[in-house]
Amino acid sequence: MSTLRFHAIKETFNRVPVPVTEPDRRSDIFGKNVFNEAAMRQYLTKDSFKSVMDAIENGSKIERHIADHISTGMKEWAIAKGATHYTHWFQPLTGATAEKHDAFFETMENGHAIEKFGGGQLVQQEPDASSFPHGGIRNTFEARGYTAWDPTSPAFIYGTTLCIPTVFVAYTGEALDFKTPLLRALQVVDVAATAVAKYFDKNVVKVNATLGWEQEYFLVDSALALSRPDISLAGRTLLGHSSAKGQQLDDHYFGSIPARVLNFMRHLETECMLLGIPVKTRHNEVAPNQFELAPIFEETNLAVDHNSLLMDLMNKIADKHNFKVLFHEKPFANVNGSGKHNNWSLATNTGVNLLGPGSTPMKNLQFLTFFINTLKAVNEHEELLRASIASAGNDHRLGANEAPPAIISAFIGSQLTEVLDELEKVTSGKLSPQEKTDLKLNVVGKIPEILLDNTDRNRTSPFAFTGNKFEFRAVGSTANCANPMTVLNAIVAKQLIDFKKEVDALIKDKKMKKDDAIFNVLKEYIKDSKRIRFEGDGYGEAWEKEAEKRGLSNHKTTPNALKAKVSKKTIALFEELGIMSKVELEARYEIEMEDYAMRIQIEGRILGDIARNHVIPTAIRYQNILIENVQGLKNIYGTDFKKFAGEQMQLIEQISEHIAKINKGITDMIESRKKANKIENAEKKAFAYCDEVKSFFQVIRYHCDKLELLVDDELWPLTKYRELLFTK
Ligand code: ADP
Ligand code: MG
Repeated sequence: MSTLRFHAIKETFNRVPVPVTEPDRRSDIFGKNVFNEAAMRQYLTKDSFKSVMDAIENGSKIERHIADHISTGMKEWAIAKGATHYTHWFQPLTGATAEKHDAFFETMENGHAIEKFGGGQLVQQEPDASSFPHGGIRNTFEARGYTAWDPTSPAFIYGTTLCIPTVFVAYTGEALDFKTPLLRALQVVDVAATAVAKYFDKNVVKVNATLGWEQEYFLVDSALALSRPDISLAGRTLLGHSSAKGQQLDDHYFGSIPARVLNFMRHLETECMLLGIPVKTRHNEVAPNQFELAPIFEETNLAVDHNSLLMDLMNKIADKHNFKVLFHEKPFANVNGSGKHNNWSLATNTGVNLLGPGSTPMKNLQFLTFFINTLKAVNEHEELLRASIASAGNDHRLGANEAPPAIISAFIGSQLTEVLDELEKVTSGKLSPQEKTDLKLNVVGKIPEILLDNTDRNRTSPFAFTGNKFEFRAVGSTANCANPMTVLNAIVAKQLIDFKKEVDALIKDKKMKKDDAIFNVLKEYIKDSKRIRFEGDGYGEAWEKEAEKRGLSNHKTTPNALKAKVSKKTIALFEELGIMSKVELEARYEIEMEDYAMRIQIEGRILGDIARNHVIPTAIRYQNILIENVQGLKNIYGTDFKKFAGEQMQLIEQISEHIAKINKGITDMIESRKKANKIENAEKKAFAYCDEVKSFFQVIRYHCDKLELLVDDELWPLTKYRELLFTK
């Protein structure tokens, strides 16, 4: 009997929901472990408080002597809450969060000790960071990078550690993390959107990009997960025959949440409350053992930090409930994978959602301005947007008829389509009073204040307008949202800057009224961005053909998709906006290409190991049982034995055939890996892994999965799909 698998299954028999304690009211504990406004008021001097608030609201610099006061207040608060250590918390390009804990504790000359945390330690740190990816920016002999406090994301206590959100940059100034370019993009979109919003309301002084992510994930019993080397090391199954029952009955989606899972969720949500992560929604997803969690949206930088923190937290809490969380975009073949929808909008300091229609024609013109500019931005930079969500894991999902295709398009619904069609007909140049009244009454005025409930839904669209926000649905479940959010906010910022220039030029040079100028420019934008609009079935083959005709990109693999990150157009865009330099972009490109190759390399090694060292020996063992059986039958029945041993002999042959195919597949894969490994250039290597090495996975898997169907269940060493997906 295959001991590990059955031992693991036996473990699951004894599982019971792990008890959790929840507060009576969540609002009572919300943000208790966050150094938020309330905590700052209590622990900071008036000057320090004002200084931090000013940094948060206006990006002003915090003076060094003020930082000393702030750090003291922060330390007192943290110690009162049981913290013993502090860390600069950052998001290097590995995809995980990084922390290095230091104790507050310091010794003094007289043999005594104190708890110390100075302004210097708050503001800047130099982690020994030579092992973080830097794409050649830092030579190892001066592998210095530093982390610097980001006051716009509040410090929080995680376990017994005070965590201070920071950026991570090289001493030479280049960004080495996800946060730095995001903050730059958010700053740029703020300025650009504020300038445009002022056309409609002079009181707008700041615009925040908002993000509401939705996190999908799988939960697998930890004993079962541990029994599978592929899940343990790659976060997904590299082989395994489909379970007889999968998701075809749709009986999991929105079904009642299993008891053990519910306790995990309650525990997780309680911790989220303490950390100020405003989680709100939880439900079962489409695939068995797949779930989703979503918060109330927040300012984008904070929302990104919260998502990173959440993913870390989920791993920790799952452990306590004997689960392993799978964030991978495609942990199981033939059932849906996981994504992370990024709901995005722009909000003014005056509390207006710029992508929300309003009650007056003027408010609707404002809405249309931001709405159409977003469409235009996506049209211009669809390829870069695709690149922003590229990853080895997401390649399995995009275009697999369970998530949007690899083609970026925007869905806006029939109502707004009509509005844009009408606006397109507006006369060029100055508008007659009659036409303006008409427009206001019959076109702009026709947009209902609340589109939300009458927006049609199209689940196949990667970028859908859903009434008061755009939903970027192609983001992968493991992604750091900073990546797509940096791009989306950057391209919209660039678009708004161009828009303002054009409108101002019409007002100044053509002496047009503001409204006329806006209508004129929007009308052209509607025409220019038509190709990005698609209301039909994004899963269909017809769309692939149509998209090709429209000249939209359709990059099915990560190495192909990533190229747009270093195109001339992208470099010009990011340099113009001051978000990333050519050096930074190229470094990131190299890191992502390297990461891709390494992931496929790891998967290839695991697959080779499982197939050769687990599957083949098991198949041979079973084949030997069959051979013994055939020999026994021969002993009993002499030459007549074939009458009774025919099936067994067929099986013996089939097994040999599958073994031969697996062996050849592995040998070929190893050969191609050897070749790929000799390639120095990161881009070329990634392509070799993508086009050559990966191509052997399917054939190896196919024959292993066939063997799974033939071999005695008692002997099969790998925990099966039905056990992984249906153990609750
Ligand atoms: P659904 O899309 O499932 O119908 P909702 O419309 O309530 O659900 O929103 C889904 C997600 O969109 C939530 O995470 C929510 O926080 C987020 N969201 C709602 N409004 C905005 C906004 N203005 N900006 C960013 N995200 C938003
Ligand atoms: Mg959604």
